[in-house]
Amino acid sequence: MKRLLKGGVVVIGNGTAKQDVLIENGIIAEVGPDLPEEDAEVTNVSGKLIFPGFIDGHTHFDLAVAGTVTADDFETGTKAAIAGGTTMIIDFASQDKGDTLANGLKHWHEMADGKCSCDYSFHMSITDWNEDVRREVKDMVDAGITSFKLYMTYPAMMVDDGAMYEIIKELKKYDCFAGVHCENADIINAKIREAKAAGDNKPSTHPKVRPDTMEAEAVHRLMVIAGEAKAPVMVVHTTCEKSFREIQRAREQGQTVYSETCPQYLLMDDSRYEGTFEEGSKYIIAPPLRKKADQEVLWKALADEEIQTIATDHCSFSKAQKALGKDDFTKIPGGMPGVETRGTLIYTYGVGKGRISLEQMCRLLSENPAKLYGVYPRKGVIRQGSDADIVVLDPCKEDVITVSKQHYNMDYAPFEGTKLKGVIEQVYL
Ligand code: MN
Repeated sequence: MKRLLKGGVVVIGNGTAKQDVLIENGIIAEVGPDLPEEDAEVTNVSGKLIFPGFIDGHTHFDLAVAGTVTADDFETGTKAAIAGGTTMIIDFASQDKGDTLANGLKHWHEMADGKCSCDYSFHMSITDWNEDVRREVKDMVDAGITSFKLYMTYPAMMVDDGAMYEIIKELKKYDCFAGVHCENADIINAKIREAKAAGDNKPSTHPKVRPDTMEAEAVHRLMVIAGEAKAPVMVVHTTCEKSFREIQRAREQGQTVYSETCPQYLLMDDSRYEGTFEEGSKYIIAPPLRKKADQEVLWKALADEEIQTIATDHCSFSKAQKALGKDDFTKIPGGMPGVETRGTLIYTYGVGKGRISLEQMCRLLSENPAKLYGVYPRKGVIRQGSDADIVVLDPCKEDVITVSKQHYNMDYAPFEGTKLKGVIEQVYL
C-alpha cells in the first residue's frame, strides 16, 4: 500500500523544507516537492510539521523497584509513547547481581515482546562485574545491544570505580559506551541519616539530601575515570549547571562525552517538592529537580549543541504507590511519567519560545539518539529508504496537559495544566 503525505513541512536535522513524503510498505519511498499522487492514498498535511519519529532513549517500563512495580508496563507505556510521537523507546535490561547479562536481557524480552505499540530496544545495565561478565559483553553486542548503563548510586545496581573503569574500557573495544547515573551514593546516604535524625522526613527533604554538588562530584569522578580509560561515556539525565561544567571541562581535555537531559529538568524546579505529601511526592525523582538557574544553563547547552539528547526517564508510579513513603521519604518510589509529553513540551517551550530551532529539536529527539544508539539512518531521518516512522505536528493548535487525556496507566500528570502550542495529530510506525 502506498500513502502520500502531501504539502507538509519536513523537518530533518540539517534542514526544513516543504516536501511530500511517499510511504510504501512501511518504508519511505520518496521525499520531494510535488510528488505525483498516482495510486497512493493521499493525506493532506499542509501547514503541518513532519518529523522523523521521536526516539526516547531512557524509559523504565514494568520495572520492579522499591517493593513495587512501575504503573506502566510495556503495553501501556508504549501506547502512551506512540500517542506522543515516540516511535521507538530504549528501555533498560538489567543484570541481577550474581546473575548473567544474558538472563537479564532474556527477562526484559519476556516483559516486552509482543506487548509494544512502538519499536523498542534495550540498553544493558551491568551491575556486577567479573571476568565471566566481561566475556558476555560480546554476546550482548552480538544480540543487538549497542549501549550499556552503569549506576554510581542504588545498592542493587551500583558498581565501584574500579569496575566502572574496566567496564567502559571494555565497551570501547566494541565501539560501545555506557550511560551513567551520576550521584555520590555514600554522601547521599549520610545526608539521609542526618535528615532522619533531625526529624526531617517530607518530600521537600529529598532535594536536600541529593544536592547538585553530589551529582557534580560523581560526574567529575566519571570524567576522570573515562579519561584514564580513554573511552567515551554518556551522562544520563544531566540536571544542573555544576554537572554540565564538569562535562565541558572533560571535553576541553579532548574527551568524548555525551550528555542527556529530560523535560522535567528543563521545565520544573525544586519548589514542586513543597506543599502536601501527595503533591510533593509526585516529583520524587533522582537526581531531583533543581533550580530555575539550572534550567537556563541546560537550555543554553541545548542551543549550543553541548547536550545531545532529550529523553524522559519515564518511570511511573500511582499516587497510592507514592504513598508507600508516607512515613519515610526514602521509601517513596522514585520516578515520574513523561514518555507521552516530551515532543509537545519541547516543541512548545523549546522551539516555540525560540530557545532551540526546529532542526535542533529534530536532532535532540530523533537524529542524535538514532546515531548514538545505532539505528541511523534507518531511523532519525526522513529520507528514501528509512523506516516510515513519522510524526505529524500541527504547530497552530493549542492544548492543555491533563491526566484524563493521557494514555498512561496513571492517576496524575506531572505537567497537569501546562499549556501546549503544537499538537501531535498523526503518528506513523
Ligand atoms: Mn532512569
